[in-house]
Amino acid sequence: MKIGVLAVQGDVREHLKALARLGVEPRPVLKPEHLAGLSGIVLPGGESTAMWRLIRATGLAEALREELAGGLPAFGTCAGMILLAKEITNWPETFFGVLDIAVERNATGRQVDSFETRLSVDGLGEVPAVFIRAPLVRRVGKGVDVLSTWEGQPVMVRQGHLLAASFHPELTGDTRVHEYFLNMCRKE
Ligand code: GLN
Repeated sequence: MKIGVLAVQGDVREHLKALARLGVEPRPVLKPEHLAGLSGIVLPGGESTAMWRLIRATGLAEALREELAGGLPAFGTCAGMILLAKEITNWPETFFGVLDIAVERNATGRQVDSFETRLSVDGLGEVPAVFIRAPLVRRVGKGVDVLSTWEGQPVMVRQGHLLAASFHPELTGDTRVHEYFLNMCRKE
């Protein structure tokens, strides 16, 4: 199984490593051709606005939008969640706009306010999670399942083939959240 990691910016390497540890073939995605034959794609953390500029410049905006509409499983972490969201409460534009949630960017504060905690995730138990200038989910649509919350706010959600987390599971060495995503990819 080949799983892509959007590699224009952000913490690409950590996701590639987590996927490799789970025995799948991870592939950095830098241009539309790299989408061929993927069973799923990870949209990493980084800076969503900078990532979007590069996504557009490489032609990935249209190509990946089409794949997402066609049902390609996707997992967005942090900035990746922002890229997938239908609504961003404190930003004038949206990006792929496919996941029916509203997010607030930088809702956990600044870089210095970063923290690590443990979250209870549906079906996985307690997992470690790192929050870095993380988005929080302020609204979830009807078809969206909340898999985990932090202080009463949804921080991991799934809508069909789309999975998103406010936090960074790839920075913890615990691969259960990635494994959850791989199971989604196997079923699709
Ligand atoms: N604050 C970033 C953004 O708005 C996301 C931070 C992250 O991915 N760690 O895009």
